[in-house]
Amino acid sequence: MPAILIDGNAIARNERAQLKLRAEGLAARSIAPGLAVVLVGEDPASKIYVRNKARACAELGLRSEVLELPATTSQQTLLDHIARLNADRATHGILVQLPLPKHIDAAAVVEAIALDKDVDGFSLHNLGALVAGRALFPPCTPFGVMRMLEHHAIALSGQNAVVVGRSNIVGKPMALMLLAKDATVSICTSKTRDLSQHTLLADVLVVAAGKPKLITAAMVKPGAVVIDVGTNRGADGRLVGDVDFESVREVAGHISPVPGGVGPMTITMLLANTINAAERAARI
Ligand code: NAP
Repeated sequence: MPAILIDGNAIARNERAQLKLRAEGLAARSIAPGLAVVLVGEDPASKIYVRNKARACAELGLRSEVLELPATTSQQTLLDHIARLNADRATHGILVQLPLPKHIDAAAVVEAIALDKDVDGFSLHNLGALVAGRALFPPCTPFGVMRMLEHHAIALSGQNAVVVGRSNIVGKPMALMLLAKDATVSICTSKTRDLSQHTLLADVLVVAAGKPKLITAAMVKPGAVVIDVGTNRGADGRLVGDVDFESVREVAGHISPVPGGVGPMTITMLLANTINAAERAARI
């Protein structure tokens, strides 16, 4: 029997309907949650991501400010803009679209964002707080995955969870969030000797490697929950995940597709973090 589909679009719609109520609650107090998105340079993929974020804000009645700066922008100029946004009371969340041009120290820019506006959750403080189980703003992609698992009432306590990938924005925070729910967590990387030896033990498998169709049916335990974070452009320009969806869906118990899986949830969690920031600022 094919796996149950974890439909990120449907879950995101549900989440956004609830967020809209919270945004309306803020509006009733004359507060418009505001997100500032900073884009440096002309990267076409980044431009699309930024446009999608601004559109998602508008749909929920959130105020968004997109600051587009030329690729030649100096680090100091960018830091000056961040300082202005940090001080702006109408801006509740600040997001700097990555990657930044090579002459800019991305880590320094992320650290310059005020802690109570770091809605991407990438700052060292936020990641440290996540380690301690007290995240202020959970990083959006793994936060979205957790909501997908919750939506399908997937039990995590005592389950074997395997995360493929160890980036600071997906793999590591993902592993910490699963650990916080009492899963027994392993993290695999490009250096892992025998990937399938680990993935075959997974009751819950989250794949964030950026390698098209890395995970095949033979690497998945029957009945496992498989979440595909990967977004890769195929030769024909179409989006493909890290999981061979067609074969794995015949083995897995639940599976998320690409597109229409984690992607819409990532943006939704950005909206959630922005509303959280506005509610915190208003002491709600
Ligand atoms: P990243 O920084 O490139 O990290 C990739 C990780 O995968 C690294 O830790 C790498 O190991 C590991 N890896 C690579 N090949 C592997 C292999 N053959 N076996 C096991 N592990 C392997 O990427 P990222 O930012 O975490 O993103 C991962 C993927 O998710 C990308 O496709 C990205 O586009 C996608 N993504 C999607 C969303 C969304 O909203 N849907 C959001 C963020 C990212 P090493 O550390 O050893 O190099």
